[in-house]
Amino acid sequence: MFLDVNELAIHKLRLRRSYAPGSVDYHEVDFRQVDPLEVHATAEAVEGQIRIFGELHTRLEMVCARCLEPVLEEVSREFDLFYRPLKSMTDEEEARLKLDDTEIAFFEGDGLFLADVLAEQVLLALPMKVICRADCRGLCPHCGANLNTDECRCEAHAGDSRLAPLARLKQDWFKKQ
Ligand SMILES: [Zn+2]
Ligand SMILES: [Zn+2]
Repeated sequence: MFLDVNELAIHKLRLRRSYAPGSVDYHEVDFRQVDPLEVHATAEAVEGQIRIFGELHTRLEMVCARCLEPVLEEVSREFDLFYRPLKSMTDEEEARLKLDDTEIAFFEGDGLFLADVLAEQVLLALPMKVICRADCRGLCPHCGANLNTDECRCEAHAGDSRLAPLARLKQDWFKKQ
């Protein structure tokens, strides 16, 4: 859905939308949307800017940072965003903005796509990393076995090598008898 600043100037829009998995492009491969992306929002024009405020909710499948198994993550976010028209800025203003490092969003032409706004908000709502459970044991760094479910033999072998000198000592002792 395209939000046109000229139409919003005439009347504000109350939005209630549901985006099926796959219909929003997140430009991201680390997760997958598994539930519809639900949004309740209002869009309006304020002094030539587009304001969008409301809330979104969905559920994503992410990857456990320790064991790499899939994890379902609830994502909810409230937002209140202002977008300035890109052409309204003078070069001088633009230069000053870069110096200030201020976070101001823009739209090009007549407006912007709601789906793009939502995709960005979902990305901002993501946790830095997820783990499948607090006591996830992760993967064995040597053989890659998932230590939650698989038995890894690396530890046993490491134990063997530590005991090796003792075993040799025992052999020597038996030979002497
Ligand atoms: Zn895990
Ligand atoms: Zn291992």
